[in-house]
Amino acid sequence: MNIEKRKILTSLGLCSNCGACIYTRDLRPCPQINIDVKLYENPIPNMRGSFITRSTDSKILEVCQDGGTVTSIVKYLLESKIADCALLLKLGKNLTPIPMIVTRPDDVISCAGSKYIYAPLLTKLGEALKNKRVIVVGLPCHMRALSIIERDVKDVNIIKIGLLCSHNFKREMYIDLSKKFNFNIDDIVKMGIKKNMFKIFLSNGNVIEIPLKELENYVLRCCRQCPELIPNYVDIAVGSMFAPDKHNITFILSKLGEEVFERCRESGIIDVRDLDNNVRDRIFKIAYKKAESARKFRDESVMLLKNHEVIIT
Ligand SMILES: Cc1cc2nc3c(=O)[nH]c(=O)nc-3n(C[C@H](O)[C@H](O)[C@H](O)COP(=O)(O)OP(=O)(O)OC[C@H]3O[C@@H](n4cnc5c(N)ncnc54)[C@H](O)[C@@H]3O)c2cc1C
Ligand code: SF4
Ligand code: SF4
Repeated sequence: MNIEKRKILTSLGLCSNCGACIYTRDLRPCPQINIDVKLYENPIPNMRGSFITRSTDSKILEVCQDGGTVTSIVKYLLESKIADCALLLKLGKNLTPIPMIVTRPDDVISCAGSKYIYAPLLTKLGEALKNKRVIVVGLPCHMRALSIIERDVKDVNIIKIGLLCSHNFKREMYIDLSKKFNFNIDDIVKMGIKKNMFKIFLSNGNVIEIPLKELENYVLRCCRQCPELIPNYVDIAVGSMFAPDKHNITFILSKLGEEVFERCRESGIIDVRDLDNNVRDRIFKIAYKKAESARKFRDESVMLLKNHEVIIT
């Protein structure tokens, strides 16, 4: 991908800032516009298990987004030397998303929490791949790009943990909201979505709540045309929708994911119970809805890109 093409995708809102082409310096075609059409028909990956999970570590539960499953698994894999490093995301000053290569188990905790902001996670992939056993935690778009890059990676085992994702937000949203509600963006300690409200938690204890409907303009077209709620190209997928408070929904997608998950369960770092089929079906229903709506946006994107002479497969 040359810079000109990336500029076009950015101007059309089709670049999710996944960072893949910045790392590869030439990723053709962009994995966020050349999405397998099958995902629009069937966005549900094959699964080997569906669970409700929760960390058993009180320190993790204090800082994590939901049940701390992701942080607990990553920390355990580093502690037990199953993995050498993890590519995670931290939030820096001025709400800057910072991809981090983490090797020390205790540093995993400083990356806990969901950052509702487009983040160029994969810019740091090259550094991570200098190791032999690597964990990557990311959104479906990050993992979609990683699945393409991975084809050319030799002698490195990658454990892929994906987050469920409905959509993301532009950084400008936080600037606008900080002006409207009179807060400093560096005072944001947590952000999250519950019952169609976006919540911003501030260091002084105040919580700002905004109906999601009012924030639609801050969601880029790349999310509108993204068919994946549940990441397909991963070993383990983790979310929280329809889970009890401070718990996760965890889907196991691969044999590797199953092995990792079983070790975590046996070691006692997470509590695990089976997910009720009705709850699972409710999540699947939303996943199908997302894919169906994304299909329309994709057709529009194809037209837009044709006008710019960018080929979409
Ligand atoms: C933009 C976004 C949208 C989401 N939408 C949904 C949804 O619709 N439904 C649902 O069930 N769940 C959604 N999630 C997932 C949910 O918010 C939690 O991340 C998930 O439940 C895991 O919780 P946890 O307590 O195990 O995470 P934690 O233990 O707190 O770990 C979170 C991990 O996520 C990584 N991370 C955080 N933000 C990002 C980011 N922007 N890009 C890449 N990696 C990141 C961090 O490195 C950290 O390791 C979304 C997350 C994000 C970031
Ligand atoms: S979506 Fe990712 S690969 Fe595509 S142009 Fe943007 S940063 Fe590059
Ligand atoms: S909706 Fe898709 S493109 Fe948007 S942030 Fe989530 S995974 Fe990435």
